[in-house]
Amino acid sequence: MKLGIVGLPNVGKSTLFNAITKAGAESANYPFCTIEPNVGIVAVPDERLDTLTKMYNPDKTTPTVIEFVDIAGLVKGASKGEGLGNKFLSHIREVDAIVHVVRCFEDSNIVHVDGSIGPKRDIETINLELIFSDLEMIDRRIDRTKKLLKSGDKKFQIEMELYESIKAHLESGKPVRSMSFDQEQQQLVEQLFLITLKPVLYAANVSEEDLSSLDSNRFLAELKEVAAEENSEVMVICAKIEEEIAQLEDEEKEDFLEAMGLEESGLDKLIKASYKILGLISYLTAGQQEVRAWTITNGTKAPQAAGKIHSDFERGFIRAEIVAYDDLINCGSYTVAKEKGLVRSEGKEYVMHDGDVTLFRFNV
Ligand code: GDP
Repeated sequence: MKLGIVGLPNVGKSTLFNAITKAGAESANYPFCTIEPNVGIVAVPDERLDTLTKMYNPDKTTPTVIEFVDIAGLVKGASKGEGLGNKFLSHIREVDAIVHVVRCFEDSNIVHVDGSIGPKRDIETINLELIFSDLEMIDRRIDRTKKLLKSGDKKFQIEMELYESIKAHLESGKPVRSMSFDQEQQQLVEQLFLITLKPVLYAANVSEEDLSSLDSNRFLAELKEVAAEENSEVMVICAKIEEEIAQLEDEEKEDFLEAMGLEESGLDKLIKASYKILGLISYLTAGQQEVRAWTITNGTKAPQAAGKIHSDFERGFIRAEIVAYDDLINCGSYTVAKEKGLVRSEGKEYVMHDGDVTLFRFNV
């Protein structure tokens, strides 16, 4: 899963990205990822892994990870190729969701590209560039479909109507994610690779001082209003503090958070919120060798979940032996859970739940 960090210059993107890379998962554990300078990989925090590690005492514990891509350089005019505009837009097209950092802190030493702090205006500036870019995509698709229409196939007529409605929506300055589609349309729309279809999480970057008095931050209030209009979520961070926290050892980190009166770091909150907007859940595997979390989309069936581990597991899937995490913990061990009949045998149609502790049976 990949998240793109966007926002105007000087809003705190690099500061947040630095926090992410410093907190980063040991890259040695993830040989499948080629890490580019603008990509940071972080472990998805999951207390359940710690508890299972105590129970199983495995050789290693492997969290599931999420990738953040720092997409700098998005400025007014990017869609017209200004700055390095189009190159950045193509990076955004590849991510699963967008974290849009919005400046909600005042600091006269740090210039704002438009001279003053203004979350609504800032969001509109970025969103307009993304909308322009999508308009270009949809125009190209409309041109192509026009030619296909000559074949007389009704299917293209239906497609054309859909594309025209998307175009009109974009022209009214709105993102495609605020439209609703039926299943058939949804499939077509997903093939368009539209940026404004991707879910967005607004990250309000507030000052250190404001963290304890969020109610009086009028910039945050303004941002929340804009986000509510498009049904997007807002979370508050202080990028500067995150950068500091990320450099601390685990124990120091806990003390620091406690002193700040925080339950968890903003980064952990950000990762969890990203998981939520992407509709992701984790299932767990536990044994003497490894305790591990695996990311799947909510609604994934057992064989496809098995395929995350290895394609052979999916191909040769026989059944899954599953115990809910809470049941396992309440029983104290897998053996007791089994005796109590809490380890279920599930087949091909089983829809996985968050926290399913799973053992797959398969043919090779
Ligand atoms: P980017 O251009 O969006 O990547 O912005 P940067 O991360 O480079 O931040 C621009 C400036 O704002 C830097 O000098 C940061 O130290 C400062 N900055 C970032 N986050 C905060 C914050 O939460 N509070 C304050 N006071 N300054 C911040």
